[in-house]
Amino acid sequence: MRTAEEKFYRARITTRDEFSPGLWKFHLDPGGEFQFVAGQFATLGVQTSQKLIERAYSIVSSPYERELELFVELVPAGELTPLLHALPVGAYMSLRKLAKGRFTLDLKSGHKNHLLLSTVTGVAPYISYIRTLYKDWSDNRPPADIHLFLLNAASRSWEFGYHEELEQLATKVPWLTYIPTVSRSHEDTKWCGETGRVEDLIRKYTDEWNLTGSDTTGYLCGHPQMIELGKGILLRRGFAKESLKEEVYWIPPKTLRR
Ligand SMILES: Cc1cc2nc3c(=O)[nH]c(=O)nc-3n(C[C@H](O)[C@H](O)[C@H](O)COP(=O)(O)OP(=O)(O)OC[C@H]3O[C@@H](n4cnc5c(N)ncnc54)[C@H](O)[C@@H]3O)c2cc1C
Repeated sequence: MRTAEEKFYRARITTRDEFSPGLWKFHLDPGGEFQFVAGQFATLGVQTSQKLIERAYSIVSSPYERELELFVELVPAGELTPLLHALPVGAYMSLRKLAKGRFTLDLKSGHKNHLLLSTVTGVAPYISYIRTLYKDWSDNRPPADIHLFLLNAASRSWEFGYHEELEQLATKVPWLTYIPTVSRSHEDTKWCGETGRVEDLIRKYTDEWNLTGSDTTGYLCGHPQMIELGKGILLRRGFAKESLKEEVYWIPPKTLRR
């Protein structure tokens, strides 16, 4: 059996930015070499007097960055997030040395188009794809002939987390189209952009962008209901099951399931 030292790093928080109550991003010095592919997740943990509590978190940063960046939503009644949320800059947490996950960019199918759908923190793996592609593109190692179409939702615009970065990149590079949408526009009256949930907008934008099952891979990340509904819409639009990738962040309690 492997020892704790072989399995875990002690990762240190180097920055912390809470930009909306209960939504924050932070950087971690992993405490050793941490290899991953854009789209994978890290397993973070906090040791209590009884046990080590661990959860999965999609990595926001690109493998080209030295530190790991994470984007987390506080679940007030949750086991881990209240403990993570209380950690200041300089505090340590456990980090499994192995990154995991298959929610990586599909470069095998030959599809030119990649439709990225997300709710709030579900944008995390897409930021990692985009930063990685951007670094390659800026270094004159252009990515394969692909185009990313990102449809990202939050209840209110101050919950986006990466809005400015995405907006700037989308004006700079020819391979990214970005549409942010706000679902509670009545609570965000200054918002002038798109409104509605992701699942309300999939038909409109797949039509507008001319995305079909034969040339597009669909990705769905974050809220389980958006993923379930979104998948149904894309399947009915002719996407093959094998062309859909999903990262479900949590399983709703049974009473809330439809
Ligand atoms: C592959 C993967 C990647 C993930 N990446 C991220 C990420 O980048 N950022 C992030 O914030 N979370 C992410 N998650 C979710 C994360 O792993 C935890 O489940 C979440 O942070 C809640 O942990 P907790 O211990 O506080 O709550 P728990 O004790 O695990 O959950 C308590 C209850 O809250 C429900 N619940 C859990 N999360 C939410 C939520 N966000 N909203 C509403 N109800 C919820 C659960 O179903 C449960 O009923 C990811 C999950 C997976 C599987």
